[in-house]
Amino acid sequence: MKICPIQKSSGILILVFLSFNLISQIQAQGKTIPDSKLNLNEQKKDNPMKRTDSDWKRILSPEEYRILRDKGTERAFTGKYDGHFEEGTYKCAGCGNKIFDSESKYRSGCGWPAFSDALPESVAETKDNTMGMARVEITCSKCESHLGHVFNDGPNPTGLRYCINSVSMDFNQEEKK
Ligand code: FE
Repeated sequence: MKICPIQKSSGILILVFLSFNLISQIQAQGKTIPDSKLNLNEQKKDNPMKRTDSDWKRILSPEEYRILRDKGTERAFTGKYDGHFEEGTYKCAGCGNKIFDSESKYRSGCGWPAFSDALPESVAETKDNTMGMARVEITCSKCESHLGHVFNDGPNPTGLRYCINSVSMDFNQEEKK
């Protein structure tokens, strides 16, 4: 088959492009990304706590399991931290990860503990379209346990309301910051 000059030069160009691309990929594999450029929240998501479902059932009470692992919700106005306003730190009940500071807790009147902000990189957000609503679910960035949801009707400066189950948290008075 006779190849016309245009086809021949196009073929050479494609070969040059593919070679350059391959060399770039090999170079990229050899480079390490500095820690300062990593999104540590994402890194934690890639390395979630390795607990099996039976581990969680053994560690948690049935109510904790229903909420933390089965994405349940405690009844409004029944949680132990709804009207709790001592100074300290709230931790994930599944793994002890520090998630909220008492400074961000406020009286929202919604029936669940409410915070205007989460501690840096402590929680992950996921779109949740269950129950016929468009919400954003909040989970622990370390163990992926369900904590609650975040809404955009909170106070300034964040404008956010982290609506969290009391069952999903443990409070530590002495470990503030
Ligand atoms: Fe956790």
